[in-house]
Amino acid sequence: MPYENEYANKSSHSDIVENPDVLAFLQECEYLREPSPEEIDRFSQRFQPLPDLNLVDLPNHIFAIDGSPYEALIDDRMPSTKVGYVKVSTIHILMEEFGALRVDDGRFVDPFRVAKLRKNKDSLLFVLPGTNMRWQGLTSVRDSFRARVDKVLLQKETRFNKEDYRSSLRSTLFRLASLRPDKMGTRSDEFLKLHQCPSCGYKGEEDLGIELIDIEEQQYCSACNKEIYPSDALRLWEEVNDYQSNISAMTRFMLAVEHMLPAHYINYLLTANFPLDQLASISFFVDGPLAIFGTCAWLSRPLMKYYHQINEKLRKEGLPNITILGLQKTGQLADYFSLVSKYIPENTVYPVDDEYRYQYIIASRDPSKVGFGDETYYGQDFLFKTASDRRFVVSIPYPFSGKGQREEGRFHKLKTEIARYPNLHRTLALIKRFETDLYTNAVIPIALAHRYTAISASPGGKVLDILSRNSFPKSNRY
Ligand SMILES: [Zn+2]
Repeated sequence: MPYENEYANKSSHSDIVENPDVLAFLQECEYLREPSPEEIDRFSQRFQPLPDLNLVDLPNHIFAIDGSPYEALIDDRMPSTKVGYVKVSTIHILMEEFGALRVDDGRFVDPFRVAKLRKNKDSLLFVLPGTNMRWQGLTSVRDSFRARVDKVLLQKETRFNKEDYRSSLRSTLFRLASLRPDKMGTRSDEFLKLHQCPSCGYKGEEDLGIELIDIEEQQYCSACNKEIYPSDALRLWEEVNDYQSNISAMTRFMLAVEHMLPAHYINYLLTANFPLDQLASISFFVDGPLAIFGTCAWLSRPLMKYYHQINEKLRKEGLPNITILGLQKTGQLADYFSLVSKYIPENTVYPVDDEYRYQYIIASRDPSKVGFGDETYYGQDFLFKTASDRRFVVSIPYPFSGKGQREEGRFHKLKTEIARYPNLHRTLALIKRFETDLYTNAVIPIALAHRYTAISASPGGKVLDILSRNSFPKSNRY
């Protein structure tokens, strides 16, 4: 361990890189590398020119969603006992109000006035059992986590109408789960299925899953009579351990909520008979790709189907698609784009195809027979270079109700046809509208949501630590 203020000598790093074993190892590995001039030439030809995006009609309501997980100590003497917090915020920006923030011909945005936009926010705070914590007399951390996840998704804070539990985030989970394309789908959004009972493993009659009803009362497994919860369908409990950090299960929970929120808002607006033309003027920014990973990856199919249904409804009225987009600031696509960006013409877009992705961007992985992101992605990734030389990796929901015959490559062909994305120009124009000198290759709504939501960085995280330590009575410890 180095002494304080003692830094590693740079020459010791070059010794390592020049070591023959290291050099041999690096030569045997495949990793992202700078493409050759010929490869760049072929790549830049894949980018298609865009019209003048200043002329495109934009949505008027912009919602940006971002979340942050945090595990706080409740006592310094028990570093392995923690409480979990997940905060998910939605920032709302009205395009008319935002227009007034632009100064100097729109290139600059007044940072102080942008900061004021943060008052238009709505935050959900979920408190979950963290490491080594049990809730309400339950016998394991896993059972506590399950019970608590169900409770927080049903809680009044997630409801648009506080007196109606059917307007809760848990009922949106029912709506989405009912749309599952396989045997796990149900006949109406009053039902959803669990693939198995978390306590005894019972898979339902003929292994067709266990059906649960959207009611507030506790439901029980017919085989073992233990509690089962509708939110068990998210399968987050599979990653919860009694003696390890639960931060990964909490992060999965947070991402599931982030991705369910646009559907939650839209569902409410539809049931409240919000005019369809106004629904078409809404947009949602989500941080990261339009994809869900891990045990709740199944949500990606229902989300794809749900947005397709909404857009069909709008299309029949002659209205534009609802704008939902995911922005990736980091990751392999963003890295690759930054390597080659200087060779790409301005004001162009490229729908990333599997062939190129597997050959150049994720060369370390074998191509999937059913297409990239088959289980996880519900949106297509596009690389977008703006007229002002900024680059964005943006994803837009696939404009289909399902993925059809993937084995024959049909879905792959369709998903990369630009003409199938009627609101592509609208989405890109929206990004262009919110690009800013304030943040490199970022957009204002996401940056604001992120700033508002981040709790892990001090001092926010510190405050949670202190509050947590003082909120748990000693008698509740075990
Ligand atoms: Zn059971």
